[in-house]
Amino acid sequence: MSPTDPLLRVSGLTKSFGANRVLDGVDFDVRRGEVVALIGPSGSGKTTVLRCLNGLETPDAGLIAFDGGPVIDFARPVSKADRIALRDRSAMVFQHHNLFPHRTVLQNVTEGPIYAHGVPKAEAIARAEALLERVGLADKRDALPFALSGGQQQRVGIVRALALQPSLLLFDEPTSALDPELVGEVLVVLKELADEGWTMVIVTHELAFAREVADEVLFFDDGVILERGAPGEILTDPQHDRTRRFLDRIL
Ligand code: ADP
Repeated sequence: MSPTDPLLRVSGLTKSFGANRVLDGVDFDVRRGEVVALIGPSGSGKTTVLRCLNGLETPDAGLIAFDGGPVIDFARPVSKADRIALRDRSAMVFQHHNLFPHRTVLQNVTEGPIYAHGVPKAEAIARAEALLERVGLADKRDALPFALSGGQQQRVGIVRALALQPSLLLFDEPTSALDPELVGEVLVVLKELADEGWTMVIVTHELAFAREVADEVLFFDDGVILERGAPGEILTDPQHDRTRRFLDRIL
C-alpha cells in the first residue's frame, strides 16, 4: 500500500454461521482520522464486521488489509503471524464494557499493554493514569468496576482500548446498555476522540451522534451494505425504502 492509501481496506467479506449467511460481500475503506458509523437493523451483521476486523471471528472469505500490514485473504489459511498482526491494529469497546470484575480500574487498563504487548509495567501504569485523568477518572484507579456507574465503567472500557495504542478504535453500540442519563458522558468522550483525529468505526443507534461525528455512514441490511454516504445524505435523504423504513422506526 502507498502512503495515500486508506488505513483499512475491507473487500468481499463473507461469513456464515451454519446456514445463516451473516455477511455477504462487505466492502469498505476507512481513511486515517475518519469516523465511520455502521447503522442498520438488529441482526444485519454490523457487530460481526467489527469482530472480524479485531480477529474475534474468522471470515469465510474476503480481504482485510491495514496500511503497512499484510493483505489477509480469508479464502486461504491464515497464518498465526497474520492473525496477530490483525488483532494488534485495532481495539474494541464492547456494549457491556467487559471489564474484569475482580481487578481494579488500573489493572483492567494495564493488563493488555503489559501481557499482550510487553509494555514495561511502570510505563503501562503511567500511560493508564494519564488516560484516566483525561476522561475524569483519575480518582477511580483503585476502584473495582462494580463501584462505578455504567457511564464510568464504559469510560474505563474506552481507556482500556486507548491504552493499547491501536491504529483503529472499534465501538460496538458503546452506549446502548446505559441508562439514558449516562449516554451523554460517553458520547462526549467519543466526540473528543474523533476531534483528536482517532480513526474509529462505530456501530450505533445514536443517529444524532452519527450525524454530528461520522464522516461516512454505512447502512447494513441482511449482510450487505445497502447504502453508504455522508451522514447528511443517508440520514436525511436515503435512496432505499429499507433505509427509510429503518430510519422512520428509530427516529
Ligand atoms: P448486528 O450487529 O447488526 O445486530 P450481528 O453481527 O450481531 O448483527 O449478527 C448477525 C447475525 O449473526 C444474527 O443473525 C446473529 O444471530 C448471528 N450471529 C452472530 N454471532 C453468532 C455466533 N457466534 N453464532 C451464531 N450466530 C451468530
